[in-house]
Amino acid sequence: MRSAFEFRLPQRRLVATELPGPRSRALTARRVAAVAAGVGSAVPVYAADADGGVVVDVDGNSLIDLGSGIAVTSVGASDPAVAQAVSDQIRHFTHTCFMVTPYEGYVRVAEELAALTPGGHEKRSVLFNSGAEAVENAVKVARLATGRMAVVVFDHAYHGRTNLTMAMTAKSMPYKAHFGPFAPEVYRMPMSYPYRDEPGLTGERAAARAVTAIEKQIGGDAVAAIVLEPVQGEGGVVVPAPGFVPALAEWARANGVVFVADEVQTGFARTGDWFASEHEGVVPDLVAMAKGIAGGLPLSAITGRAELLDAVHPGGLGGTFGGNPVACAAALAAIDTMRRHDLPAHARHIESLVVPRLRALADDVPAVGDVRGRGAMLALELVVPGSADPYPELATVVQAAALAQGVVVLTCGTHGNVIRVVPPLVIGDELLLDGIGVLESILRASLASGDVPVVER
Ligand code: PMP
Repeated sequence: MRSAFEFRLPQRRLVATELPGPRSRALTARRVAAVAAGVGSAVPVYAADADGGVVVDVDGNSLIDLGSGIAVTSVGASDPAVAQAVSDQIRHFTHTCFMVTPYEGYVRVAEELAALTPGGHEKRSVLFNSGAEAVENAVKVARLATGRMAVVVFDHAYHGRTNLTMAMTAKSMPYKAHFGPFAPEVYRMPMSYPYRDEPGLTGERAAARAVTAIEKQIGGDAVAAIVLEPVQGEGGVVVPAPGFVPALAEWARANGVVFVADEVQTGFARTGDWFASEHEGVVPDLVAMAKGIAGGLPLSAITGRAELLDAVHPGGLGGTFGGNPVACAAALAAIDTMRRHDLPAHARHIESLVVPRLRALADDVPAVGDVRGRGAMLALELVVPGSADPYPELATVVQAAALAQGVVVLTCGTHGNVIRVVPPLVIGDELLLDGIGVLESILRASLASGDVPVVER
């Protein structure tokens, strides 16, 4: 599956120093004196280079990248087509501001988004910088277009760190704690979470549970938007039961509610389709996108029904840097790479390689409570053996042990007990399976070795 890519850096795991090495440790010392403590990093190693499935650190360690910079570098962190497009654009102009002197790149990205997002209806797009900004603008559009205020979100949701998107995000620590007061008119409803729901709760019944709560607590005619991640990312790679997303989209349509798919993390081939909504044939009214869209450059977008977007008065949407021309050039190149190499198929291939391995691991290791995900958005939920109690201590130990062996892996989940596997979609099979092998050996050994804190609950 891999031969189509040529990489600049050797695609190998190489641990040349202890991790973090001396140069990373020196940078950490400087960082502490200059960078605010509130910005965390998953691993204390500093990147010097990255390509395909590896990140090379400042000490010369070549680390297998199972995190993609939080599901961003789907085409790799230095895709030659993206690099070329960026350097070509930069030599012409870096910025004029689309709201001052517009340029073709922005229009072309909007054309691509209309073609790629689900549904054959007439669409319009607006470009921004971050995922949070996209989500926030989707809510602005939905409120204006419906003349309603209430926004429905779900348990375990993650939508960002601005004031409105903090209100929409479920998890308090670290995202919200002490940062309130939060924006009003945001209502949280029960999610479909098959591993933790009562056994046998179907997607349709989980949706009915949410709809009943919406109708009782808000009233359908007061709801501007339902905002839902079709597969939740930060909340723990929660894949709702089949039928949940379509039933909510259908209820939204019947009640004049704008159905917003937050595809910031799931979009652009990550889950094996261009957009995760497609998996069950859902056509959202609005789609929020970011992360994988531009090969690592900061760009986000909302794309949706023309009548919704065009309802907004001129000047009501925008921002100085939104749809920056360099980011647009990168997006056009990244989309071209995804299309030429059929990266949705790569994501499905990754699932087919990794999931059987993780399921076999779960059979042997009682701390692996659940294996789930779709495409190249996969996860292990870790639990205290013999229970379904979250085991975040083990996730932390696994992450640190993986780093020591040259693998970067991210944790997530409301309880911090989920290990996720979100590699670049261009990663080679051998490298990927080497990384998975490291995770397997750590999990098989960790409980036996007594390295993991024993928790009394
Ligand atoms: N929505 C989802 C589903 C996300 O995963 C994220 C980022 N993890 C965001 C919104 C916010 O994106 P950003 O960090 O670019 O603001």
